[in-house]
Amino acid sequence: MEKKEMLMEIYSTMLSEYGGQGWWPLRGEYSPAFKKRRKTPAEKFEICVGAILTQNTAWKNVERALSNLREAGALNRKRMEKMNGGELAALITPAGYYNLKARKLKEFLEYSGPIERNSMLRIWGCGPETIDSILLYAYDKPVFVVDAYTKRIFSRVGLCSEKAEYGKLQELFHRNLEKDPKIFNEYHALLVEHAKRFCRKTPVCAGCPLGGICKKAGNAIKKTIKTRRK
Ligand code: SF4
Repeated sequence: MEKKEMLMEIYSTMLSEYGGQGWWPLRGEYSPAFKKRRKTPAEKFEICVGAILTQNTAWKNVERALSNLREAGALNRKRMEKMNGGELAALITPAGYYNLKARKLKEFLEYSGPIERNSMLRIWGCGPETIDSILLYAYDKPVFVVDAYTKRIFSRVGLCSEKAEYGKLQELFHRNLEKDPKIFNEYHALLVEHAKRFCRKTPVCAGCPLGGICKKAGNAIKKTIKTRRK
């Protein structure tokens, strides 16, 4: 199977198996409607904050931090600009690394440049995954978000090496998929879902919907047959 075909096969299999994921969650809610309309400035801001807070932590912790900010009326650019680092850190404590993340949020607030990848990558504390999440989910730019789950799944199915660099893996999606933010949005969200359900650190290959095209599953089956023959 060609790469392009395989990428689409993975996408359509996950979509029919898990359904639309309704990303990026807003106000703690997932909805397919989010993908169909432009975000309001307040929603864009919530996504930017969430993308920074989710670094090195599970989303449930980010939800708690966002909820603290919401309750304090601080999920708001003007209000957040007026807060000092300590006040901000206290509210985002559940997201972990709170002093560091408070500084990152402050640095992000200082940014007044264009909504453009190379320029935004100069913001202190924001790497490619964070900036690409902001560009795709807040601003509907056709930029694929690569994360540890993407690398894990794609190296196992046989589409990249375990050590593939961020840019190389991103290029695989950019070259072989239609540059449509709606597809990129859904594809990334589905990969996260798939990594949680089946392609965990220790993969649960039995019953995996991608089993038919996955190299790792194929190798496991070959190994079992060999062992049985001995
Ligand atoms: S078959 Fe196993 S390794 Fe392959 S994608 Fe599914 S869970 Fe991951």
